[in-house]
Amino acid sequence: MEECLFCKIVAGQIPAEKVYEDSDVIAFLDINPRNPGHTLVIPKKHFSDLLEMDDEYAMKLFVAVKRIAKAIKDGIKADGISISQSNGRAAGQVVNHMHVHVIPRFFNEGPVGLESILPTKKIDQGSMKNISNILKEAISKVSEVSKPASEKKEMEFEF
Ligand SMILES: [Zn+2]
Repeated sequence: MEECLFCKIVAGQIPAEKVYEDSDVIAFLDINPRNPGHTLVIPKKHFSDLLEMDDEYAMKLFVAVKRIAKAIKDGIKADGISISQSNGRAAGQVVNHMHVHVIPRFFNEGPVGLESILPTKKIDQGSMKNISNILKEAISKVSEVSKPASEKKEMEFEF
């Protein structure tokens, strides 16, 4: 992945303000911080998103996310921490290398959950039941995900 911005950061070809590094993970300050201390935690190995990661690597990454979150809370004196992670362009993913945003949050900015970016939708009980059944069926088929499923069926919901 020679053209990948984050792979270049991992390789040290592009400078970044690194705050953490171990054998599998690095964390560095986001150059477009939502708040001071906004950090990106990424796997050193290239995965395009969470769905592509193998379970073991995903665990390592999220242990690091937890550690960074605690450090931001203590070090930046954040009142709260938002964790955000997008998969795919529809979700707003811009850099095609798995990354988790760890964002310090403060009461004085107005307590707002990141989910509130998307408006809530009214979904009737029958549709909710249907969606639940689709998900339960799909979950039963997901064991360890190490490779992206190339023949994923599109699931369409009517909202
Ligand atoms: Zn990459």
